[in-house]
Amino acid sequence: MGQPRHKVVVVGGGTAGWMTAAAIATAIPSSLASVTLIESEAIGIIGVGEATLPHLKRFNDNLGIDEASFMKATSATFKLGIEFRNWGQQGDAYFHPFGDYGVENHGVDFHHFWRRLAHDPEVGAFSTYSVPVMAAAAGKFKHPETNGERLANSYGYAYQLDATRYAPFLRTLAEARGVTRIEGFVVDTRRHSETGDIMSVVLDDGRELEGTLFVDCSGFRGLLIEQALQSGYTNWQHWLPCDRAVAMPSEARGATAPYTQAIAEANGWRWRIPLQHRMGNGLVYSSQFMDADDATSCLLGAVSEPELATPRQLRFTTGKRTRMWHHNCVAIGLSGGFLEPLESTSIYLIQAAVEQLIAHFPLDDDYAAERESFNTLLDLEFTRVRDFLVLHYVATERDDTEFWRYMRHLDPPDSLRERMDLFCRSGHFNEYQQGLFLRPSWLAVMLGQRLVPEHYDVRVDAIDPGQLKQRLCELKARIQNAVQQMPDHDHYLRAFCQERAA
Ligand code: FAD
Repeated sequence: MGQPRHKVVVVGGGTAGWMTAAAIATAIPSSLASVTLIESEAIGIIGVGEATLPHLKRFNDNLGIDEASFMKATSATFKLGIEFRNWGQQGDAYFHPFGDYGVENHGVDFHHFWRRLAHDPEVGAFSTYSVPVMAAAAGKFKHPETNGERLANSYGYAYQLDATRYAPFLRTLAEARGVTRIEGFVVDTRRHSETGDIMSVVLDDGRELEGTLFVDCSGFRGLLIEQALQSGYTNWQHWLPCDRAVAMPSEARGATAPYTQAIAEANGWRWRIPLQHRMGNGLVYSSQFMDADDATSCLLGAVSEPELATPRQLRFTTGKRTRMWHHNCVAIGLSGGFLEPLESTSIYLIQAAVEQLIAHFPLDDDYAAERESFNTLLDLEFTRVRDFLVLHYVATERDDTEFWRYMRHLDPPDSLRERMDLFCRSGHFNEYQQGLFLRPSWLAVMLGQRLVPEHYDVRVDAIDPGQLKQRLCELKARIQNAVQQMPDHDHYLRAFCQERAA
């Protein structure tokens, strides 16, 4: 067999590096591309990033990964969504579920029907019309039934996993599929004198590794995309000023919640991510409003379980690489950009970049069109996540600290302002056709943070209010009944990992 057309060199062996290597080795024929991954144990991986989105299941499925084995290997738990505390006002709580609310009727979204009768106490809160919200509150979980009735498949789920275990799990799989791993420290790159493309990377022991396509998964340092190619960085800190985190694992006590928590604090917010063997904790904050010592005290004061390690400080600059695919180098993972982990989007953004790289994989050396298309799509992904994150801050009524007053009066991106205005007036959205986040997610956060539309869809008035109320109450009862019959998350999880893991 001849040489493959592309020699893909992945620099970095964190979650991004091994997701990229495993996916390319699985999807791209070896006649078209070989894959080599270089990583340095001396540097290590970032090792935070434990909450994910439902899309990860598809990624694993495409790699042929057995779900129970993956969950056992990464000490993962099931995740039905995120509980937000203290965001609209202190004392508030709402849930962003992975699933839809109610049922659509004659092409009109459910929330319009609810909105018409929202004042009626028997109709109750919007959240009571969601299976995953009610299941999470009751600590219940079971897999959605793909062929079951509407309520049984009205939700999806993600995982909370040990971030240090997913990359090694993928490494075993990727190496079995032909990926060559090199332990080494990259110190330099050689570029083509005319095109400027990267031709090779140089290791500290003098070895030189040639490639035709380079994937920069080197983390925040952006070794190839920035240090070598100076792609530039679009900084979004004026909209998302949190630029620090302090992370600390603790023991897990009590029942394992099937959800992540994001608890707003005086100068940022705190995560709680339950795994099988421990709890992930962290505080995200802005260095403009809080220093590292205060952040550490705030975290230590809030975590009641015994600590398993000393708190670790992390720094980041919110934004994205201006061109994630520049010359013959694609930046995936933290090297491509970072948006704070409020909605657990980083691993999703890795997945989106890997899937788009595979969909746009160059068949020959002339791939400028593929590169442009990739960059446009990734821009869209990042921008949409950015807007959704900013929503959590600007849709607040908190004014108890300088941080919250700043966030509350922030001028949001135009794209977000337009969405908020339209929703507040009519309850409508300009629906995204793909990507993150779709209508139920926006509804959860907007209604959860007290943005209630002034009007509802006029078609709702065609239904008699008495009949509508009866239908809503029946639906609510069916949801309660469905949730009651679900098993406890803890019980289901342990049985699933013990009995089903290959
Ligand atoms: P890294 O893990 O930093 O890996 C970089 C790799 O590059 C390493 O293997 C290193 O050895 C290698 N390397 C670097 N320089 C060299 C060199 N010179 N030579 C050779 N090798 C080199 N994501 C989520 O999806 N959910 C979350 O809940 C979440 N929470 C987060 C919380 C915080 C505070 C932060 C900062 C991030 C969080 N993330 C989260 C993001 C998530 O951690 C990352 O997206 C993910 O771990 C991918 O990291 P990476 O592989 O890009 O980089």
